[in-house]
Amino acid sequence: MEFATFADRAGTIDAEPADLEIVAHVRDLLAAADDEIEVVARFVQGRVFPAWDSTTLDIGPSACYEAIARAAGQNVSSDDVEDRLADVGEIGDVAASYEFGGQQGLGAFTDGDGGTGDDLTVREVADTLTELAAAEGSGSHDRKVDLLFGLFNRASSEEARYLARLVLSEMRIGVGEGTVRDAIAAAFEVPEDRVERALQVSNDYGRVARIARDEGVVGLDTMDLAVGRPVQAMLAQAGTVTDALEEWGTAAVEWKYDGARIQLHHDPAGMDDGDGSTVETRVFSRNMEDVTDALPEVVEFAAETLEAPAILDGEVVAVDDDGSPLPFQEVLKRFRRKHDVAKARENVSVRPVFFDCLHADGEDLLADPLTTRHDRLRSVLVDSGADGDAGDAVADEDIEGLSLLWTTDDPDEIESIDADALEAGHEGIMLKDPESTYSPGRRGKHWRKRKPDVETIDCVVTGAEWGEGRRATFLGTFELAVRAGDEFETVGKVATGITDEKLEELTDLLEPHIVAEAGQEVDLEPAVVFEVGYEEIQSSPTYSSGYALRFPRFLGVRYDKDPEGADSLERLQRLQA
Ligand code: ATP
Repeated sequence: MEFATFADRAGTIDAEPADLEIVAHVRDLLAAADDEIEVVARFVQGRVFPAWDSTTLDIGPSACYEAIARAAGQNVSSDDVEDRLADVGEIGDVAASYEFGGQQGLGAFTDGDGGTGDDLTVREVADTLTELAAAEGSGSHDRKVDLLFGLFNRASSEEARYLARLVLSEMRIGVGEGTVRDAIAAAFEVPEDRVERALQVSNDYGRVARIARDEGVVGLDTMDLAVGRPVQAMLAQAGTVTDALEEWGTAAVEWKYDGARIQLHHDPAGMDDGDGSTVETRVFSRNMEDVTDALPEVVEFAAETLEAPAILDGEVVAVDDDGSPLPFQEVLKRFRRKHDVAKARENVSVRPVFFDCLHADGEDLLADPLTTRHDRLRSVLVDSGADGDAGDAVADEDIEGLSLLWTTDDPDEIESIDADALEAGHEGIMLKDPESTYSPGRRGKHWRKRKPDVETIDCVVTGAEWGEGRRATFLGTFELAVRAGDEFETVGKVATGITDEKLEELTDLLEPHIVAEAGQEVDLEPAVVFEVGYEEIQSSPTYSSGYALRFPRFLGVRYDKDPEGADSLERLQRLQA
């Protein structure tokens, strides 16, 4: 397919407001493609490489401006390009505003009379961009600019418009993943759900388009996960415990670990590392970037633990010397670090916690229920020792790298799991539908991050507890009270789960108000007001007010309020009613 044909259709799509019409144009484009169908399916979404492939062109906007300027002729400089960009605001319009062709030099192809000698094809553009991405080391900047210049120099205005947008990841013609899915289904008369499944396991729109065309539904159905090729992570919606239990009856509850999402791919027989070498383990971030080199602890964990090919989904958490979690920013620092990982590791180490298993020993598990996948995860992680059955006797807590999972229909039990998670320094809990399958890329209702803040209330802090271990010098669990006439009546406790910095600030604020101490517990004179989120108010004999906040969360100090300004028992009663 000529690149002009692609650019022409991209222009039509760009001008089309109706979604259905856009799908029809993409369908026609795919149907018109020949060998280059994979490239067309990606280009139309503004992608040069498959979604699972974290290769980038590694080229900044200025290199693109330089190439445009050179192709536009001797009187044009990068500054001119930037000036026009400042005027019109969009690189496609800028590129389309020049006349290209006929410039001599590396990569230039002219027919001697100012016109281009041969027309650009989609395949050529893809091959050149692949070559450009691969250029590295000294001289690579110039090489990249030369290659781009070669493309622009042969481009018409409309081709240049979409070439520039493609190169700078600014295609924006309104073609999302759903559009391409529907277009593939329509072009090759295959059911949308089968296209969807194939996309989920392969994460490759190009391949799915080709297989749908060449092999039909039978081909799509045989597409599987591949160890070494990341899939999109399943995501969570915010939701309440009450809703979760109403919908599912029983909920699977896990701690919400405060770290960064990882997908671990491991194959003892080795896989391609993307650069042509063979490795046993690759680790991908939530955006499917390869972060293997930044997380040697995870690679070591895999080598020590996993005996067969596996794809595991989880979180990597930064920990201090006692193994207590540190704020997730510490993990992010690691992700950003390309060099000196060994040094970073001395400062902060990380450990993985896995909560899902997508593939184990040749078997894809996406379609299995959550609890089955978690059982499989357990058996993959447990050290079965010499006797294969020994793993059954090991408690889940003792299996390194395994997230704990409770299945329960009891809100009280869920509340206590939530309190434990906060106490352990994590973010709270995740609620999952125990029967649900794994849907890559979906932010569905089967995974819920518990949302506590249905309401907020301002409470006076009337007591606290000194922490333990590393946190022994900090006040941690805070007793909350509301106004009742001249008195204050308790309504609950808010556990910590706050960063050390915040705890230090709160300790400094509250310590002067200690009026009595017994063991770890302190009584405080009413002075400081906290804003607290909660999910529900219940009648409860536990606290002196006769009420208890369910799932209280510390949201901040109301520095602007004194105890008289805190919420009253009457308001609590009204809120509960
Ligand atoms: P979002 O996913 O909404 O864009 P986010 O990445 O900040 O935002 P949250 O939505 O707050 O994350 O929560 C979902 C994330 O929680 C997951 O992507 C994962 O990184 C993390 N997480 C921690 N523990 C678990 C768990 N047990 N199950 C699933 N996800 C978990």
